[in-house]
Amino acid sequence: MNGSPENISRREFLKAAAVGGLLLSEFVLPASARAALEKLLNSQEYYNETLEELLTRLELAVYESDTEVMWAWVERGGKSYAMNILHKATDRTAHGVNLTPLHEDRAVEKAYLLHTHPAALFLVDPKFPRAKAEQIVRERESRYARIPSSGDIMEMVADRVRLNEMNLKREIKHFVVEPSGVWSYDADLAHPFFKDIFSGTPEGDTQAEMARGNWSLGMTLQGALEDWQERLNGEKGMSEETRKEFIAVFAKEYGVTFSYTPRAAT
Ligand SMILES: [Zn+2]
Repeated sequence: MNGSPENISRREFLKAAAVGGLLLSEFVLPASARAALEKLLNSQEYYNETLEELLTRLELAVYESDTEVMWAWVERGGKSYAMNILHKATDRTAHGVNLTPLHEDRAVEKAYLLHTHPAALFLVDPKFPRAKAEQIVRERESRYARIPSSGDIMEMVADRVRLNEMNLKREIKHFVVEPSGVWSYDADLAHPFFKDIFSGTPEGDTQAEMARGNWSLGMTLQGALEDWQERLNGEKGMSEETRKEFIAVFAKEYGVTFSYTPRAAT
C-alpha cells in the first residue's frame, strides 16, 4: 500500500543483531537479578529506540501479526531500550517475560509495558460482523476499537503494587496498541474500588501477585469492559462522545484512568 512497512522491515533487519544478554551489561543489578534476567532475555531481541519509534512498529504489528506482540520500553541514564518480552503467544493469549528483577536497578527512570490487540481479533469475535472484520484487515484501518481487558488492568494494578512494595518512584505506564489507536491506562490504588485488594484472594508470594489474582475485582472489571467494548463500537465505530463517557465512568466508578490517541493516518 505504501513504502513504510518495507522501510521498517529493513530498519528492523539492520538493528536486530542485538539480543538481551548484551543489553543487560548496561544495567546495575544484583547477581541474582542479573542471572534471572539473563536466562529470560537471552535470546530476546532489543533495540535502542524512542517510545515513538516503538509505537510506530507496534502500529504496524497490529495489522501484520495475527497474535499479540509484547514489548517493554525502559529509560535509564539518558538512553532508552525497547525489549521484546513476548514469551509465548497463541491467537487468544500471550505471556510476557517477567521483568521485575530489572526494577532492582535503582537508576531506571521509566519502565513501560506495551502490547497489541491485533486486527485479526475482529475475525474471531462472534459478536463482530464478519464483513466489517474482513474490511478492517484488508484496508488496514479501523474506526472500531479493541479496548484494554480486565487482565490488562489487573497487570497494571500489580505493577503499581510492586512499585509501592519496592518503594520506587519511577514512572510506569502501560499501553495497548490496537487497530483504531493507542490506549494507556492506570489504576489509582487509593480509589475505594481497590480497598479490599489484598483480601479474599488466593495466597501469593508477593502482594503484586495477590493483587493480580484478585478474582472479584477482575470479574467486575471484565463485565464492565465487555459491556463497553460493545457499546463503544456503534454502527459507525467508536465516537468521541461515547469514548469520553466510557473514560469518565471508569475513572469515577473504578479508579481506572484511560487515555486514547487515534492511530495516525498511514
Ligand atoms: Zn490486552
